[in-house]
Amino acid sequence: MPDIIHLLPDSVANQIAAGEVIQRPASAIKELMENSIDAGASRVNVIVKSSGKILLEVIDDGCGMSETDARLSFERHSTSKISNAKDLMSVRTLGFRGEALASVAAVAQVELKTKRVEDDLGTCIEIEGSKVKNQYPCSCQNGTSIAVKNLFFNVPARRNFLKSDPAEMRHIIEEFQRVALIHPDIAFTLHHNNQLVFQLDKTHPKGRIAGIMGNQYSERLVPVEEKTDIISIRGFIGKPQFARKTRGEQYFFVNKRFIRHGYLHHAIESAFEEVIAKNSFPAYFISFDVDPATIDVNIHPTKTEINFQNQQIIYAVLRSAVKKALGIHSLTPSIDFDVEQSIRFEPFSSDRPVVQPKITVNPDYNPFEEQTGEERRAKSEEKPGGDAQAQKIIEHDWSEEDDTIAGKIIFQISNTYIVTIIKSGLLVVDQKAAHQRILYEQFMQWLNLNQGASQQLLYPQTVKFSPIDTEVIKEILTEIRILGFDINEFGKNTFIVEGVPAGLEIKDTNAFLENLIENYKNRQTDIAMDKKTHVARSMAKQASIGSGRRLTQEEMNNLIDKLFSCSTPDITPDGLPTFLIVSMEEMEKRLKKI
Ligand code: ADP
Ligand code: MG
Repeated sequence: MPDIIHLLPDSVANQIAAGEVIQRPASAIKELMENSIDAGASRVNVIVKSSGKILLEVIDDGCGMSETDARLSFERHSTSKISNAKDLMSVRTLGFRGEALASVAAVAQVELKTKRVEDDLGTCIEIEGSKVKNQYPCSCQNGTSIAVKNLFFNVPARRNFLKSDPAEMRHIIEEFQRVALIHPDIAFTLHHNNQLVFQLDKTHPKGRIAGIMGNQYSERLVPVEEKTDIISIRGFIGKPQFARKTRGEQYFFVNKRFIRHGYLHHAIESAFEEVIAKNSFPAYFISFDVDPATIDVNIHPTKTEINFQNQQIIYAVLRSAVKKALGIHSLTPSIDFDVEQSIRFEPFSSDRPVVQPKITVNPDYNPFEEQTGEERRAKSEEKPGGDAQAQKIIEHDWSEEDDTIAGKIIFQISNTYIVTIIKSGLLVVDQKAAHQRILYEQFMQWLNLNQGASQQLLYPQTVKFSPIDTEVIKEILTEIRILGFDINEFGKNTFIVEGVPAGLEIKDTNAFLENLIENYKNRQTDIAMDKKTHVARSMAKQASIGSGRRLTQEEMNNLIDKLFSCSTPDITPDGLPTFLIVSMEEMEKRLKKI
């Protein structure tokens, strides 16, 4: 047998590495922007065509490269940022693995132009699928510009895997924001298809947040600051009253690198615990500065997780810093006292005629009739895990109960649950979950039939979004129009709404759409799911009547009727239960302890 192991050619090895480093246009942009920052740029311009699928270009005024360095920069593991393992302990640059340029060049047509201040002429290199096509001296600006054309031109499977233009553009904007937010001292621009998306001049940290998230953020933020021997924390938190119903703007940076951190996120949540309603999320933009030796720097380019050596201490420092910020700015607790602990009955109006109470008697009831052990067993076998029980109620002929339900006691507990009596026991319906299920099925039907219902607004409303949210709205425009939004683009990041879905209570169209977008964005990363389902679920979640809403008898009856006309009444679109039955058997079991 001959030897069978051989080294892969560089072009192949690079393409494999590229698969990890460059997953989509946004990852290329992130790497190129980070290189510009490491090169000391004071200005970084990003140009994108067709969401980076045709062109993405990053131009900076940083230190530039010599002719030799320019050529070397495309080799794998070529870096100017570290030279030995010890250096890993003190990395302050964003890059250090020397993989990004090699990876980009392996899967695209790249043109690099670069010039150092001290050189008269710059260098231009054209490289395609890791092969250098051309290298020549050229006259160009000080700094570096890298144009990446036709990303994945030689990896069709990857190219086909890319999402729609608006979806890829959202990823680009997200990466752009993460870099720009933490570098307010650098000016950035982003152009898409010749349109200016962001123009961010050099400013202070708060100015940068407002520049990206919108000017309204200037009043929504309070500063957080704390300095200890092991960490210094600086940044901003959103005032409690602006907390969102869905995860909003939450950014952590460590040594100017965007990270996610569940544990530290919890520190902030717990600091906010008493000042915001449950299930709402505060905004935060927090920057940590630590000795690089105390963090695990060996970060994979696409990974955003990081480990701190002194995690518990940092947790405590962060939590108290946030609490202090909330205290100093006297954002006093707006605790929502739940006065609705007891059962609430509709109050009688004074002109209501007094009627004699009636009772209904079951003429067939025989108190001496005992259930046989056999019958009891058969019944209890029906309900392990509640599935059989749920099935029973779904198959149950509700038309038969209708007049009975209408005439029966039906009431709310804590303005959250609807309770009524059914043949097999007590039915407890979670009003919010039930309404979500009803709306979801209705929206899916509208989307499938391509036919919804709209109600015109008396006064058309202009709504304005951040650039990233604008991309989301564009992505789901067809779907939300079918669902009844009469909405049209009306200038940059601005839309005009002339109609809203019929039958929904929408008090503030802008807030509704903002939350819908949030909802949709959060779902995106979930699982592969078609757009209609995504939109229908997000809309249902957003439009459902919340817990805490007091309902009239008629509304309660209606909700229960509609729930049990659904094809899957027992769970929300996200799989949570919508109701619970306390069966007679269970009552007997628990009360009589049989
Ligand atoms: P890394 O950033 O991990 O070092 P890259 O592949 O991203 O690896 O870049 C390789 C090298 O090319 C960098 O170390 C740097 O010396 C040089 N380089 C890349 N981009 C730029 C730029 N915009 N300006 C100056 N030098 C750059
Ligand atoms: Mg790099």
